[in-house]
Formats: sequence, structure tokens, C-alpha cells
Amino acid sequence: MALEFSAMPDKEGYFGEYGGQQIPPELKAVMDDISAAYERVTSTEDFQADLANLYTDYVGRPSPIYFAKKITEKAGGANIYLKREDLNHTGAHKINHCLGEALLAKYMGKTKVLAETGAGQHGVALATACALVGIDCEIHMGEVDIVKEHPNVTKMKILGCRIVPVSRGTKTLKDAVDSAFEEYLRDPDNFMYAIGSVVGPHPFPKMVRDFQSVVGREARQQIQEKTGRLPDVVTACVGGGSNAIGIFTAFLNDEDVELVGVEPAGHGLNTNEHAATITAGKKGTIHGFKCYNLQDDKGNPLPVYSIASGLDYPGVGPQHCYLKDIGRVRYETADDEQCLEAFMQLSHLEGIIPALESAHALHFAMQEAARIGKGKNILVNLSGRGDKDVDFVAEKLNL
Ligand SMILES: *Cc1c(COP(=O)(O)O)cnc(C)c1O
Repeated sequence: MALEFSAMPDKEGYFGEYGGQQIPPELKAVMDDISAAYERVTSTEDFQADLANLYTDYVGRPSPIYFAKKITEKAGGANIYLKREDLNHTGAHKINHCLGEALLAKYMGKTKVLAETGAGQHGVALATACALVGIDCEIHMGEVDIVKEHPNVTKMKILGCRIVPVSRGTKTLKDAVDSAFEEYLRDPDNFMYAIGSVVGPHPFPKMVRDFQSVVGREARQQIQEKTGRLPDVVTACVGGGSNAIGIFTAFLNDEDVELVGVEPAGHGLNTNEHAATITAGKKGTIHGFKCYNLQDDKGNPLPVYSIASGLDYPGVGPQHCYLKDIGRVRYETADDEQCLEAFMQLSHLEGIIPALESAHALHFAMQEAARIGKGKNILVNLSGRGDKDVDFVAEKLNL
């Protein structure tokens, strides 16, 4: 059965029962405008050529696929290949969709791009894209996060981005979302909101997926050139789900390729300190779309935690929820300790310091390699590099 994945989401933005626009009517009109402009602009050859050139000359695409021989030997089974999104300009996959969003804003004649950021990774990638494209960038960030994530704040300033400190509520990501959105709604005709993953109301899960799908298109061709066939397993970490959907999309119709998303189990699934939304969540609504969420009995979002700040989101992309329900993608977890172990192993054995986010997927790949055995191939989306994480890890491990 070849499912029509390319036809998803439907016109209302649904992947099965997930996604959509769970928002007030005035906001729906704004989102529908973005959706129409997105379809119109991205179907032009000019836009596609501009974006393709930026991916090649600015980001450094295609990112290579690397056979991690010593990690493979360590794991003791299937061959492990890494899709090196860590080698992109700015050090992660996020630049793929930020460039798409900034370029779209430019084509739409917008004057300012707005976003929130938590750990600052989305903020830095977006500030970079806006500097390049030549459009004003305004990032809202909680005061608590501004203190914690100082290097990223400095980078954003150097890149010419305006930072708006948010002092209300918990002074963290959730309040930054509200603050940025209020500013956006002051003038949605001239401003553009840029979401940092495959989440939020339609059309964002679709837009961000489409921009990230370059990763899978490249990888599917590269791995066949290297190994002569498709991989047995493709795996990626899942926070909101953009790097995972980016690599999965090209393989959805390859029924013999097993796809596995890896969620953060933090201090353990039996504690309240994790962010394994699909594995442990319930159906609900968050930030304008329907998905699995981590919520209390009253339906309020629960606090979430992961050692990797890019993975601690209480919702998850609607397409992942659908793919889980139909059984096309399997979702597993890795906890903080397993993540740290994989982080150190890749650094020691291959000289590649991965992002803590990506190390979750690597841990799973090493386990799975031993389980499925020699002669099989596993492809891991190494979503980013770990420069941002080294001080934290050194403190954690007393280095
Ligand atoms: C932000 C981030 C993630 C998590 O986001 P997704 O949308 O789930 O991909 C994963 N890896 C890195 C390196 C990140 O910066």
C-alpha cells in the first residue's frame, strides 16, 4: 500500500486527526494568508533557484554522509552512517528552514521577521538567515533564558538582530511565545512569524517540513551511491520533529526502510522530568495545533525536561503523531545518561562532537546496530554539532 504522503497535510492542515488550526478566526485569516503566499511563492522558479543556491554556496549543501567505522565497531553489528548536518553553516539543520522562512518573508515584501527562542538555537539560525537575506529580525526571549544562554544572545546581537527581553510570567520560552505573537499581531500584513520546528498552526508544520526535506532527498541518493542500496534503518532525534521529518520524508514510501524517531527520556519515563511527548503523551491542543502533548489532568502543558534544551518541548509535530498511529514510524527514547555516553563515544572515537540532541539518536543507533547485526545499514541524522554543549558536559562529567 503506497500511502499518499506527499498529499499531506490536507487543505485544513490535518495529518489524519492531528495539526490543523486551533486558533481564533482572526488569526486563522492571517495563517491562511501565509499559506496562500507560501504556495504561490514557493512554486516559482525564482524562489526555488534562490533557495537552492543558498543551500549550496552559503550552507555548504549537500552535507556529506560519513561511515562511522569506529562507532560501528564499538556498537558491534550493523554499519552506522551519519548524515552530517553538523557541518552546515551555523552548525545544525535549523538553518535549512530559517533560510526558507526568511527568503519567503522577503519575497512576500514583509519588513520584519519575528520569533521566540528558548535556548537560542532557533534565534541564532534565524538571525543569520535574516542578516543574509536583508530583513529585520526581532527575537523575543525570556529574561531567565537570556542569562542562561549568554553566548547565543551575543551572537544574535552581533548578527544585527533586535532582542526583546520578556519579563512576564516564568520569564522563559512559553512567555516569549506569547510576547512575540502579540507583537506579530500588531501588524501581520508587514511582519512575518517564523516558527522553529514542524509545530504550530497550519501552514507551519508543512512549510518547515518542506524546507527540511532537502536532508532526506540528499541522504537517500548519497547512501545508495555509497552502499548500493537503501538503508535498513533511518533514525533521528525528535524535539518538535523538524530534523526527523526532514530525513524521513524521502523514505516514507520505501516500505522496507524502518524509520525510528528518538525522544528524550531525561531522568526517566517514570519521573516527571522528560520530554517524551509521543511515547508518554495524550492527545490534546497546544500552540494552535492538535498533537500528542505532555499535559496534566486539566489539559495544561506539563513542565518538560531534557539534558538537550532543543528537545524539551511539551508538544510534537502533527505529522509525527499521524505516522506513529499508522505504524509507519517507531518512536523510542534515550535518557540523559545514554545521551552523554553516546556524546563522549562519538567525540573520542571519531573526533566528532555531536549536539546533545543528536546524541540521543546516536545512542539508539548503536543499540539497534547490535540488535539487527552485521550486514545491515543504519543512517543517523546528526542534526547538529556540540560546540554549544561542551561547557555543560565538562561540568556534568567533572572534566
Ligand atoms: C533544535 C534542535 C533539535 C530539535 O528540533 P527538531 O525540530 O526536533 O529537529 C535537534 N537537534 C539540534 C542540533 C537542534 O538544534
